Amino acid sequence: MSPNENTKKTHLHWRRTKIIATLGPATKSDKKISELIDEGANIFRLNMSHGTHDEHRLLAEKIRRISKRKKIYVGILMDLCGPKIRVGEFEQGEIEIKSGDEVIVSCSASVGREGLIPSQYKSLYKDVKKGERILLDDGKLELIVISVKDKDVKCEVKYGGILKNKKGLNLPDSNISTNSFTAKDKRDSELAIELEADFLALSFVRDEKCINTLKRFVTKAGGNIPVIAKIEKPEAVKCIEKILSAADGIMVARGDLGIEMPAQQVPLIQKELINKARLHAKPVIVATQMLESMIVSSKPTRAEVGDVATAALSSADAVMLSAETASGEFPVLAVNMMDKILREMEAYQWEHGKFGESDYEQIAEMIEPDRKAIARAVKSLAHELKLQGIIVPTRSGATARVLSADRPSAPLIGVSSNEVVCRRLSLSWGVVPIYIKEETTHDWQGLCNEVAKMCDLASTGNRVLLVSGFNDDIELNEPVLKLMKVKN
Ligand code: PEP
Repeated sequence: MSPNENTKKTHLHWRRTKIIATLGPATKSDKKISELIDEGANIFRLNMSHGTHDEHRLLAEKIRRISKRKKIYVGILMDLCGPKIRVGEFEQGEIEIKSGDEVIVSCSASVGREGLIPSQYKSLYKDVKKGERILLDDGKLELIVISVKDKDVKCEVKYGGILKNKKGLNLPDSNISTNSFTAKDKRDSELAIELEADFLALSFVRDEKCINTLKRFVTKAGGNIPVIAKIEKPEAVKCIEKILSAADGIMVARGDLGIEMPAQQVPLIQKELINKARLHAKPVIVATQMLESMIVSSKPTRAEVGDVATAALSSADAVMLSAETASGEFPVLAVNMMDKILREMEAYQWEHGKFGESDYEQIAEMIEPDRKAIARAVKSLAHELKLQGIIVPTRSGATARVLSADRPSAPLIGVSSNEVVCRRLSLSWGVVPIYIKEETTHDWQGLCNEVAKMCDLASTGNRVLLVSGFNDDIELNEPVLKLMKVKN
């Protein structure tokens, strides 16, 4: 590409890759939430690791009120902390541990000091064995277990440093006996039901059973919330097929994944997880440190720009900002930057017919044949006829998700008479959720004209494709494809 060619690029009206912004102290005001939506945040993440229930109630109320005023369907993703293990507190707030020293990780000590690290996880001594690693503070500090006596674990420090109160502790080599769905997760799930959250993300998922436990709990408590499995443990990567069957989407949670597994393996795992999620027609989020330096800087590093670009080029449904928007100095700029990078990549992909191009094409043989054939036909019609939009009346959101998985070139207008479905579609690649009253969904021409106008899609004479009839239960699939001219 010559340098000038770049300047000719026309960015697409509808960005296809979705942006998730975590809310926190830096973005709790009406003004900031409004600005984040204006810059392109599609989903807000409420992180249950921080804040009180009342603070989250207030945030949810603000998101709903502001997005309603703007007539935009923005989703709320509540992120359950799961069994995140942390060290306790120290007499002086922190200690220094030096490489080669011996330290005790104690399950009985309540306060730590030089050489003594209290564990908040009181069964740690039961789970670790000689020679296994204990990682501290995002894996920056590393201990090797020498022996276990009573509730104390004697360790040698391999990589030392300063250890502050309540820093994270990971046990990448051990089988952890604690439940993946904790008492706090239960209370937080009840809050999610109360607030009608659109997604529940579960941390430290080990297998599909963790997902089923959460789903059973939510159903029993009277809720119905799609569950996103956070993939951050090697066990989860190993049984990803089963997790994808049980969950409604996945998150590549690279923070803990990069601690629990060798960091150099994370990029290929990310690529594989994106492809596999698409095969299951379930959304996949790439998360953590995407624009990390923007916590304190108004500009990202070139490497971070490359990271966001890679997620878009490998066809993730969504990319997520954590501390960048929750506590950073430039939350609005961070969303703006992410939007710009995604749009640049998408304009290139659109121009060169490269949406969704990846190993997915080679492994897509696994997809159920009807779905594959129809989704391919839609993709090919959209590309060859340069359609302005694909209009998808969708009761549960399933048709829109199935078509989205193939990444067609035209925007997918997910039309639903259910506001909950609209909010949930805010996560899926390329889907523009539109709410419309039930009565009009039987008049296809009227619907097509109205939607084209609402979305600024096409003018009179332009063609759109109407697709309906996919179901979550493949036995009930009766797909219909109708090429229509917009008449305004
Ligand atoms: C992660 O570990 O990458 C992640 C997204 O989870 P959390 O932010 O809850 O640590």
